[in-house]
Amino acid sequence: ATPTALLVGTGRGAQLGVLIRGAAALESARRIDTVVFDKTGTLTTGRMRVSGVHPAHGVRRDEIVRTAAAVESYAEHPVAQAIVIAAGQHSGTDSPTVTDFRAVPGRGASAMVDGKQIVVGNTLHLADAGISVDTPTPVTDTVVHVACDGRWLGWIGVTDSLRDTALPAVARLRGLGLRPVLLTGDNPAAAGAIANQVGPIEVIAGVTPEAKAATIRRLRDDGHTVAMIGDGVNDAAALSEADLGIAIATGSDIAIEASDVTLVRATAGTVDLTAAVDALALARTTLRTIK
Ligand code: ADP
Ligand code: MG
Repeated sequence: ATPTALLVGTGRGAQLGVLIRGAAALESARRIDTVVFDKTGTLTTGRMRVSGVHPAHGVRRDEIVRTAAAVESYAEHPVAQAIVIAAGQHSGTDSPTVTDFRAVPGRGASAMVDGKQIVVGNTLHLADAGISVDTPTPVTDTVVHVACDGRWLGWIGVTDSLRDTALPAVARLRGLGLRPVLLTGDNPAAAGAIANQVGPIEVIAGVTPEAKAATIRRLRDDGHTVAMIGDGVNDAAALSEADLGIAIATGSDIAIEASDVTLVRATAGTVDLTAAVDALALARTTLRTIK
């Protein structure tokens, strides 16, 4: 009787706007007690914009933005899009020659631009390249440092806004007695600013994609049954590590492939996070039907 009931469950899932891959997903979903959210592109819209340009002494603001944009035009991260758009606002120069582009998920990117080595990314990424930066005092923006031939040029602040359905989704999870967690590669201040908008939520910030997966493993080792909701390449390892991986339909293919469930329901043109709560509630009901 079990397979039939589970098939009914998956059909109902499609009606709710969640695509469920296989019955095993629903089976583990009923025991979930912890729900981990990625920040950028999951709890937030992922449509980022430049909020400020902060040059090092003697550096021009447009030089920082143009330099960063040359590299970011090859990157897929939401911060990259924001910087490319900002650079477009004061264009007019010839396109530079870009070679050796390399993206490091959860950290940043680098490339040779007109023969110069350009590095963009978080503090960790610049430290990896042996470049020291003037870390700004805690800012709630995502901080993108820019360096040219080993010299720090300054940083660009980028911000994002909360997904409309983030607050109701987190509130309903709490109502079901589930523990919400925010897990992000962004800095703690930026993570805290988003956390404050969804009410009580545990925050784990500044983690690399590998550390995201390790965090899920640790939660499971502690006896929790964990769902992870994410959208990015940087979330793929954590999504497959979770008892239930839940991907955002508009996220990266790698995240979707690593997940058991994909959220396809859209409200006002963007993916609706409350569909994830419905999927968890559905799993419980379906299993109750079987018993
Ligand atoms: P999240 O966990 O919020 O989805 P990521 O793990 O994708 O964030 O990225 C973590 C951090 O790495 C970003 O907040 C940003 O500081 C930095 N980063 C990642 N990719 C880039 C990039 N292409 N350019 C600049 N910074 C980047
Ligand atoms: Mg993300």
